[in-house]
Amino acid sequence: MPIKAPPRLSIGQIFEPRRVAVFGASDDRAKWGGRIMHYLALHGFAGEVVPLNPRRDVVQGRQCYARIADAPPIDVAVIAVPAVIVPSTIRDCAAAGVGCCVVITAGFAEAGADGTALQEEIAQISAETGMRLVGPNCLGLINLRNGMALTSARVLDVEKIIPGHIGLVSQSGALMLSVYNRAHDQGIGFSQLVSVGNQADLEVCDFFEHMIADPMTKAICLHIEGLLDGRRFLQLLDQARRGEKPVIVLKTGRSTQGEQAARSHTASLAGAYPVFAAACREAGAIMVDDPDVMPLAAQFLLANGPSRDDGIGVISSSGGMNGILADRLADRGLRLARFGEKTRSALLPVMLPDHRDNPLDMGMRRHEVGEGDAIAPHLVAALAADPDVSVILIPLTTTPNYERTVTALAEALCACGKAALFIVTPGSVATGVREVIRKHHLAYCDRLDDGIRLLETYLRVPDVRSRPLATVPRIATPPRSGYLSEPEAKEMLAAAGLRVTRERRVQSVMEVGAAADALGYPVVLKGVSVQVVHKSDAGLVRLDLRDRAAVETEFAEVFPILKRLDPTADACLVSEMITDGLELILGVKHDPQFGPVVMVGAGGTLAELIRDVEVTLAPLSAETAESMLKRLRIWPLLAGFRGHPARDVGAVIDALVKLGHLASALHGRLLELDINPLLVCRKGEGAVAADARAVIA
Ligand code: ADP
Ligand code: MG
Repeated sequence: MPIKAPPRLSIGQIFEPRRVAVFGASDDRAKWGGRIMHYLALHGFAGEVVPLNPRRDVVQGRQCYARIADAPPIDVAVIAVPAVIVPSTIRDCAAAGVGCCVVITAGFAEAGADGTALQEEIAQISAETGMRLVGPNCLGLINLRNGMALTSARVLDVEKIIPGHIGLVSQSGALMLSVYNRAHDQGIGFSQLVSVGNQADLEVCDFFEHMIADPMTKAICLHIEGLLDGRRFLQLLDQARRGEKPVIVLKTGRSTQGEQAARSHTASLAGAYPVFAAACREAGAIMVDDPDVMPLAAQFLLANGPSRDDGIGVISSSGGMNGILADRLADRGLRLARFGEKTRSALLPVMLPDHRDNPLDMGMRRHEVGEGDAIAPHLVAALAADPDVSVILIPLTTTPNYERTVTALAEALCACGKAALFIVTPGSVATGVREVIRKHHLAYCDRLDDGIRLLETYLRVPDVRSRPLATVPRIATPPRSGYLSEPEAKEMLAAAGLRVTRERRVQSVMEVGAAADALGYPVVLKGVSVQVVHKSDAGLVRLDLRDRAAVETEFAEVFPILKRLDPTADACLVSEMITDGLELILGVKHDPQFGPVVMVGAGGTLAELIRDVEVTLAPLSAETAESMLKRLRIWPLLAGFRGHPARDVGAVIDALVKLGHLASALHGRLLELDINPLLVCRKGEGAVAADARAVIA
């Protein structure tokens, strides 16, 4: 790799250019170069705009140049010329001393081999000269604070753009614009937005880093398709957390193609998405699955600060709505607050005595008090004073005095200081109501789903943990490279401090009997070979053998099967039988982005069907291990549930922590490891690895 030239501009300077050049500038707003010129003027760009077009002298009232070489010094040039002439244009820009090119043109790496070659060419020019690139295949960037709207998208066809404190970095240009548009319509402002496209030079993390440092950006939204450098991303998440800037992440690519072929369960269960999600969660970022909720949640967080608890207090206008809402909240694991006695007393003068519980229905008021607007201040004050209410949710269907009621609610909410969210009828009848809510700078959603997503995002405080330092286990060198069969993998685990079944290798009927006698009955007999991945499927596992005769009989059967499958095999394994253990699967895999990952889940033959797994990055602390276990659906089986005895959870936590140490000590070498099952005995009796396999690089 040749040495990269020092960058001509920082990202801060790219967002604050003194002079911007527009290739293909035009007076015609139907053309992209016409629109960009127009939007820069419309939104009052603070710098100078220089049109470039060989066929014009003046464009939109500004002196036009034929070539970039003739123009005055340019900080940022925006380019949407056809792909084939992009490299020569870029070269001209670099020669003219341009600081950064924003390449809107598509048809590069996303389009196939020819495009990839073109992209490499422009990346090369950037690396050699230090001229920065945004894109190609992007939709530009917008700085709301200086009106630098470097995109031709019609979402800028608005009278006034709204400067705010939310930053957005999006891999997709289309997504950036649709998210921007919807947020704008709700009165939500941004500080800066960028779509990074194919990331030939500047990538998501470069802009993320800039926004963490940017004092005007107070919350950051990221849309990520694939990361270039997972470790850097983690460091930045950490930096953002220390700077107390909330980070909201939408990651696409959850489907698990290409993971089925793996030989271990862990590789197929701990896909790229769960690993990414775990990394984000542990670094304190908020994961969402819907683009539009990003700015809503960011704005809500900025307006209200992080939530302290998760109780939701509801004031609605309809019992029907309350019924739906209660169901939906329960479905998503969100909690209705429990009103205290004080709250119920405060509600008594305005509500019917039997209708003073959460969720409140304004229809169940004492009618002598008046309409909704008359009781609104009482309801809001009562909920605001209730310590179990963290957020007040107001889902409204139309009411007789819709606007008056909402005005009264909004005024009371502004005065009360508690986080509040309106959900209004999506239809046009609510246009006036939306106006009222916006005027009061309160949050609203047009659909129940959006509101619930927002609350989910807001109320689920991320589980922030610091990663422990890895202590290297006693033996950090695996026995050999390649596929490790059960006894070899167990040897490595035992050296790392995990408990494995006591067992012996046996080669004859004579030996098997003596070994079983020594271990004590019952025992398990297994035929093991690197050739056989699933031993029980091949008839090589015989459980619960209670005496010497049984062991000898089974050996006489199993050994020939083993020999048929693997002529080089020369021994079986006799192990202690762990009775009544709960089966978990534990595993390690090497994630290409984040390195070693530890997994735990429901074990046994149904592991892949049930997919009840949790992942985390290695190494991990005992607290992380415990919270992973508690998130499993089978947690009640570990904790003790209806006649099922409580299990030795402490032993599982210990095994997970040690596995994390082993995984980090063998960073990059331990590609896959499965313990399936780890048999978890009753409380105080430990947890034992009964089967294991591994792949070593
Ligand atoms: P494989 O996964 O290759 O088919 P295992 O060694 O995991 O073979 O054995 C299959 C099943 O037998 C395990 O999932 C577990 O239920 C049971 N088993 C294996 N070894 C023991 C043991 N030592 N004690 C109790 N049960 C065992
Ligand atoms: Mg197994």
